[in-house]
Amino acid sequence: MSKNIHFTPGPSALYFTVEQHIRTALREQIPELSHRSKVFSNIIEETIKSLRALLKVPNGYHMVFTSSATEIWERSIQGLVENESYHLVNGSFSARYHAIASQLGINALKQEAELGNCPDYKDVSITDKTELISITQNETSTGVAFPLEDIYAIRKQFPNPLIAVDVVSATPYINLDISKIDMVYFSVQKCFGLPSGLGVWIYNDRCLELANRRNYEGKITGTYHSLTSLHKSMQKFQTPETPNMLNIYLLGQVAKDMINKGIDKIRQETDYKSALLYNLFETHGKLTPFVKDKAVRSSTVAVATVADGSASLINNLSNSGLVVGSGYGANKNNHIRVANFPTHSKEQMELLVDHINKWT
Ligand SMILES: *Cc1c(COP(=O)(O)O)cnc(C)c1O
Repeated sequence: MSKNIHFTPGPSALYFTVEQHIRTALREQIPELSHRSKVFSNIIEETIKSLRALLKVPNGYHMVFTSSATEIWERSIQGLVENESYHLVNGSFSARYHAIASQLGINALKQEAELGNCPDYKDVSITDKTELISITQNETSTGVAFPLEDIYAIRKQFPNPLIAVDVVSATPYINLDISKIDMVYFSVQKCFGLPSGLGVWIYNDRCLELANRRNYEGKITGTYHSLTSLHKSMQKFQTPETPNMLNIYLLGQVAKDMINKGIDKIRQETDYKSALLYNLFETHGKLTPFVKDKAVRSSTVAVATVADGSASLINNLSNSGLVVGSGYGANKNNHIRVANFPTHSKEQMELLVDHINKWT
């Protein structure tokens, strides 16, 4: 049986080198090591180093591992917010961060855009009580991308609150200037093309000092993980718990592969494949791009509305081994969502576009 190609927006196709790296990891017995051993802390150190280079993480910014991006939503509110957070909501993932903040009992405010649009940052009602602003750079549920220039404009206008940016389904494609924000985070099963179950949290000294102070004051900033405990363990390239060792190893290897390939090349290829997809959506009789405003269309998750519903197209493609995502939430039955991640080759994307073109 030939393999399926997963264009689903996470989990998605594994990065094309992952299988080889898993074999190497098993041969070298990496999952059998003690997570407190020198050999394994060297692996953590190497992964951190490679990621810092790939993502151009500036000095004064730190990196720790969590179980997922979802965990970072909880830990960031617990560690960094006393009373009030503000969420720019443009779909299900940004809404979930807001909901978690509410559940944790803080005053979580939001500005919500209609699905398929981006909240206009000029309408925000951020006050001097706002401690953290949440922005979802790439909203995987709708295919809306928050323009980087708007993120930088928010920074300029609001220097005091922390700015937290979700780049789960955009990094390392997106060329974010990390020095302009306070924390950024992702999980690895989207653009990085790895198995799920690992989150990466990058944060600056402001975040760290805040979390440490709240911790010192006796606030609950997390249980098995808090920013303070994660940071402290990472000084020895360790984690408080037994981590997802295999994935930490794989992430380091894939980050190196991406550096060797060249991040510029990865970005150019992504732009090329994204143009193919949106051109298809605009010219196909039964498809229309869900995001009308080209300025906020995601390059890495393209969403189309399918006339008469998306089930028949999704089935048709899957019969040929091409797996695309269905819609999210309310749009489950009338959208397709197509991941355009670094592992999806030009040839694979051309094959998918060809197939959809032939479907009527
Ligand atoms: C997938 C996703 C998440 C959640 O990731 P988990 O690994 O399930 O925690 C958060 N934000 C965005 C934008 C996502 O696409």
